[in-house]
Amino acid sequence: MRRTIFSPEHEALRATAREFLDRHVRPRMEQFAEAHGLPRDVWIEAGKQGLLGLMVPEEYGGGGSDDWLFTVVVSEELAKVSASLSTAIGIHSDVVAPYLVDLGTEEQKKRWLPGFCSGEIVTAIAMTEPSGGSDLAALRTTAVRDGDAYVLNGSKTFITNGFSADLVIVAASTSPEKGARGITLFGVEYGMEGFTRGRKLDKVGQIESDTAELFFDNVRVPAANVIGEVDKGFVYMMERLVQERIGAAVSNTAQVSQILQETIEYAKERKAFGQSIGSFQHNKFKLAEMVTKVEVTQAFVDQCNVAHAAGELSAVDAAKAKWWSAQVQNEVLDECVQLYGGYGYMNEYRVARAWRDARVTKIWAGSNEIMKELIGRDLGLLRLLLARDLALLKTRSAEVQDHGAGYRAVGSKPGTV
Ligand SMILES: Cc1cc2nc3c(=O)[nH]c(=O)nc-3n(C[C@H](O)[C@H](O)[C@H](O)COP(=O)(O)OP(=O)(O)OC[C@H]3O[C@@H](n4cnc5c(N)ncnc54)[C@H](O)[C@@H]3O)c2cc1C
Repeated sequence: MRRTIFSPEHEALRATAREFLDRHVRPRMEQFAEAHGLPRDVWIEAGKQGLLGLMVPEEYGGGGSDDWLFTVVVSEELAKVSASLSTAIGIHSDVVAPYLVDLGTEEQKKRWLPGFCSGEIVTAIAMTEPSGGSDLAALRTTAVRDGDAYVLNGSKTFITNGFSADLVIVAASTSPEKGARGITLFGVEYGMEGFTRGRKLDKVGQIESDTAELFFDNVRVPAANVIGEVDKGFVYMMERLVQERIGAAVSNTAQVSQILQETIEYAKERKAFGQSIGSFQHNKFKLAEMVTKVEVTQAFVDQCNVAHAAGELSAVDAAKAKWWSAQVQNEVLDECVQLYGGYGYMNEYRVARAWRDARVTKIWAGSNEIMKELIGRDLGLLRLLLARDLALLKTRSAEVQDHGAGYRAVGSKPGTV
């Protein structure tokens, strides 16, 4: 189905992204896979091409765009080449950027954003802890005020870009007695004493991006590195998860769409019993179903993108786009592997890597179960609440009211990443 949401300007940026990928990424994918991460020169080249920080104001070295659809075309092109790439750059450009741009002080913006846009400062965001990721409000990392600094203690896990990041936005509890209302965000810079990172985690898929544990042992983080207001971190994260989730849906859909096209070509060429495997009725019907599923998903995701570009995407619709695209992506890629036969199980085939890469999309950025919980609650289907949950919900509702009307779902959903 023809997509109608992009202008010639969007397509021009798409062409720039493709050229960058053809020249600097595709020929080196094996190197990235072996290194379990992107070398810095790739970040720097992406920065030179203006692909990082598209929505960062020009005065700090960014693209100065307020049009989300530019971000979408870049994410799609990255995901078509490698889901890992889309993840690593997406966390930096689409997930972290809004925290720095919307909440950073003038001094922080001047300090971090030019390097952020040039690729000299790679960033990460650390919410998840070993004790749990879905229940974000229950995080255990603490930050205690001591003079002109906060003393940070705790650990984070599964952090994308965690191994290579120069700057990590860390969520920590500053007022444990206040629960979700006592969480603050900090810009923690690599090199701060007591801040260490573990090895690159050995993942099933997405092996071209680095994912790491982070440890904080009495790290003195200057008060000047607090991002936004103290104790407002939970609301800041909830607000920005909408963009993280629609961004995930964009990437999921682009990746599966690309691999499906490649599978259709394979099914035309591969012969069995004297005819192409795609021409067997069973496979033809499978491919017809897959194309339909992906195009219908794309139409919903595009509609969400248009809504997000207008600042109107609800948290619930972003949750729908996120879980549905992840589900379709996984179902379709599994069928694609089947159509490739034994080759589909070989790592040297893109379809095999794509299938492994996709598995995590049902887990991260808020698991699919959590997405359905949010959607279900929006339908008025509240589970039997414990007294503690009720207190927490009241706290969150109050926070949202404090924060204005733009965000409408926090009061009726759990805090999740
Ligand atoms: C490769 C990778 C990269 C990641 N990158 C980042 C990152 O950059 N930054 C970051 O902060 N985090 C990151 N994460 C963490 C990710 O967001 C969490 O793994 C995710 O939120 C789930 O948390 P958990 O792993 O602790 O699972 P848990 O919270 O322990 O959940 C376990 C299972 O229980 C289910 N569950 C939990 N609560 C409910 C409920 N109320 N109803 C029904 N089912 C429920 C979950 O859906 C899941 O199936 C990453 C994870 C991976 C694997």
